[in-house]
Amino acid sequence: MRTLDSMVEAYDLPVVEKIAEEHRADPFRVLIATLLSARTQDATTDAASRRLFARARTPRTLGRLAVPEIERLIYPVSFYRNKARHVKATCRLLQERFNGRVPETMDELLLLPGVGRKTANLVMIVAHRSQDNICVDTHVHRIVNRLGWVRTGAPDETEQALYRAIDRRWWSRINLYLVTWGQRVCRPIGPKCHICAIRDLCPRLGVKKDA
Ligand code: SF4
Repeated sequence: MRTLDSMVEAYDLPVVEKIAEEHRADPFRVLIATLLSARTQDATTDAASRRLFARARTPRTLGRLAVPEIERLIYPVSFYRNKARHVKATCRLLQERFNGRVPETMDELLLLPGVGRKTANLVMIVAHRSQDNICVDTHVHRIVNRLGWVRTGAPDETEQALYRAIDRRWWSRINLYLVTWGQRVCRPIGPKCHICAIRDLCPRLGVKKDA
């Protein structure tokens, strides 16, 4: 983790962290951008988020938009039809139940439409500055299994295993480091082990060949 900490500084921030940095960690933007980012490339999420927030940037104003308009604004993020419905329903629930604010507990975040543990954990870490959460997406799940830190079959299982496997001081940072590393070096197919800064520490479990 110390090696990755020094390496990732050279790279651009992942899209949600970038949006958070530009907007003082506005929890609503972090929440919506995270919802849009699932299974979507960062550049696409970034452009879609900017179009959407240029049109509306609060639960009240965004919740007033019709679903087809939200679809048009966020296209071509993957599953844009489902995501548009979730964005609108989430805005409505934020208004009705949380007074227009993004809740600050996992249990409450998980009530929001389309919000699973990955999204809720990232909102807790990036928007609410929690040090008590680990956000596991496909990059984190894949890399920590290649490293042999856990042996798990699904991201939710990986999250629970990581709370036991790694020092608490790294919990809130592991997503940032491994998403950055997973997008550029430890890619799903053809990881670039030959240029990887942590190669000497990695048993490369399940890796068939180096890019
Ligand atoms: S050595 Fe290869 S498998 Fe291990 S972390 Fe680096 S890129 Fe991933």
